[in-house]
Amino acid sequence: SLYRLIDRLKEKRTLTKDQWVQLISGRTPELAEYLFSLAREERHLHYGHDVYIRGLIEFTNYCKNDCLYCGIRKSNRHAARYRLSEDDILFCCRMGYELGFRTFVLQGGEDAYYTDDKMLHLIRSIKKLYPDCALTLSIGEKSYDSYKKYFEAGADRYLLRHETFDSLHYSRLHPPSLTAFARQECLWSLKEIGYQVGTGFMVGSPYQTAEHLAEDMLFIRKLNPQMVGIGPFIVHHDTPFANQTSGTLELTLFMLGLLRLMLPKVLLPATTALGTIDPNGRKLGILSGANVVMPNLSPAHVRKDYSLYDNKLCTGMEAAEARQSLERLMESIGYQIVTARGDSLNLPSGH
Ligand code: SAM
Repeated sequence: SLYRLIDRLKEKRTLTKDQWVQLISGRTPELAEYLFSLAREERHLHYGHDVYIRGLIEFTNYCKNDCLYCGIRKSNRHAARYRLSEDDILFCCRMGYELGFRTFVLQGGEDAYYTDDKMLHLIRSIKKLYPDCALTLSIGEKSYDSYKKYFEAGADRYLLRHETFDSLHYSRLHPPSLTAFARQECLWSLKEIGYQVGTGFMVGSPYQTAEHLAEDMLFIRKLNPQMVGIGPFIVHHDTPFANQTSGTLELTLFMLGLLRLMLPKVLLPATTALGTIDPNGRKLGILSGANVVMPNLSPAHVRKDYSLYDNKLCTGMEAAEARQSLERLMESIGYQIVTARGDSLNLPSGH
């Protein structure tokens, strides 16, 4: 039965493609509850009831790419573009540090304005001012050389979702200039260089099948990343996917539970997208096996412009200033926010 498949996943930490498909397509609410209880057990074993926080700085929404799902794609003429200066970014870090953040995540579109020299200067400035903090980059596909230079300048972690493993599916979500192969090659490079690496995918993206999700799980198992970011695909009205259907809370939670059982020590965020499709998304994400939240540390006046999808949360509990209310929310379900770098327990070799 499907319950036995979940037991098997817990025992072997992997399934065959067919078994993944059966589990994903045959899931029921009762099965999901069983999965979540095992996922929570696993998470408590390794990370207790701690929830790690990351300060997310969305420093540019200029992007040279044209991903069909994304609100900041190059072709979206309605996006109000902005970029933050190094001083702006350092100010965000200062605020973040005072609020108790010890990881900063620099995320942005692929913006040629930030040359390698500018990025290196920025990375060095942040690491010099905050040597006790971890610095995570999420700035898309770069050359091996660039990744290596950023690492040597002090960047610790890199987030690059593979988005979908299947190359045909990938090509239906992206322009021809982007390929699944190139994206995956970047991830292998980042690993080789020594970053703590995060990958991930959107749940319920257009044309996605259970087979695709099964392949995503097999790929993630093979990559063995330190972090996995998943969230529902959410429609953005100014994209070619304006008339598609968004992914669901229910399937996203199920995938979170599966990820926790497959990679017990993985750092797994309850993402902004999850909080956006359901007011209880964040909380339910934690109860399904997630152990990270990433509040927004960008300057308040630009937050609404980093609009990847419709109604993206950027106020309330999403805002870094609201650390207190996030804390209370977590306490209400028996968890606590911790001020710690929150490195993975599954560190790359050489650390
Ligand atoms: N440019 C960098 C990159 O490509 O990795 C980082 C920024 S990119 C906007 C960050 C993530 O946003 C993507 O990996 C994608 O999964 C997610 N995203 C973009 N549009 C989305 C949408 N409509 N719904 C949900 N997630 C979306």
